Amino acid sequence: MKTRVATPKDGLGEALSLLAASEPVALPTETVYGLAADALNPAACAKIFEAKERPLSDPLIVHIPSANWLPRLAATTPLAEALAEKFWPGPLTLVLPRNPIVPDITTAGQETVAIRWSAQPDFALVASSFARPLAAPSANRFGRISPTTAAHVLAELDGRIPLILDGGPCAHGIESTIALVHPGRIEILRQGPVTAEDLRAFAPVETPQSSDIATPGSMKSHYAPRTPLFIEKNPQPLGPRDGLLAWSQNPPGFFLTEFYSHSQNPREAAANLYGAMRRLDEAGLDRIVAEPVPEAGIGAAIMERLRKAAAK
Ligand code: AMP
Ligand code: MG
Repeated sequence: MKTRVATPKDGLGEALSLLAASEPVALPTETVYGLAADALNPAACAKIFEAKERPLSDPLIVHIPSANWLPRLAATTPLAEALAEKFWPGPLTLVLPRNPIVPDITTAGQETVAIRWSAQPDFALVASSFARPLAAPSANRFGRISPTTAAHVLAELDGRIPLILDGGPCAHGIESTIALVHPGRIEILRQGPVTAEDLRAFAPVETPQSSDIATPGSMKSHYAPRTPLFIEKNPQPLGPRDGLLAWSQNPPGFFLTEFYSHSQNPREAAANLYGAMRRLDEAGLDRIVAEPVPEAGIGAAIMERLRKAAAK
């Protein structure tokens, strides 16, 4: 299969035809690029799993074209409605009990469904023109670094999908926050651009314990470069081909240094994270040493990604 890259304007018609023909199309969102297909069509969703080599046990996030799809797909609650009202369209995914309209393949057989409404204008236009929900997991092969540019998607999925719409780099650069909405409380399943602090205004919030995340062996590697990655408070090279992902320090002797953000801006750091990891991964290094970032606000989401990248 030949993979075409088009501007959102040139590619809109083709994207809609492909989606209607149960084919997947890579689209920009405000978090990372997604591989989108008709979420209510099992055959279309199967092609997402196939292109990504994603295990069928890993559920897909369903991106809705407008808020009125929420009660059609899930059993919503006042708390879920309040969160949707405040944060949608935007980088927050709500997990709620699903309605029967959602196919098993989309939720990996779970009785809950993960729903989001993206604010990215190119994505929003495709979704509203298609007028059906789109399943859209990150447009990378399973377990690899999520793509934040169309070039990253091409590097991951060239020859596996028919079309990529190039809407420029993603604004947030890391995946959406995933919130499991319980009656009267929120459990964060994945940290992201909408922070625990943001959600606390609505209900008590449980965050994943960093002790759970850090337990060796208990966590699967994810978002991972091929080069071994180590998190070190005081980074030092062990050999001539070590690379550094730097927050505040730049000790001598590293073959290549990438900064999260030259101005130590946490939002900019999140937006640059995957691009910087990819450049380090492509430099033929023996090790990538990542300096931790302060674990507040979106820094917690960055550290969650780094710990997963470091897990073997
Ligand atoms: P992504 O590739 O970023 O779209 O990742 C989708 C992730 O959303 C999955 O790997 C799950 O961790 C999470 N997810 C999707 N659906 C559910 C669900 N029903 N319950 C809990 N987590 C979910
Ligand atoms: Mg993913």
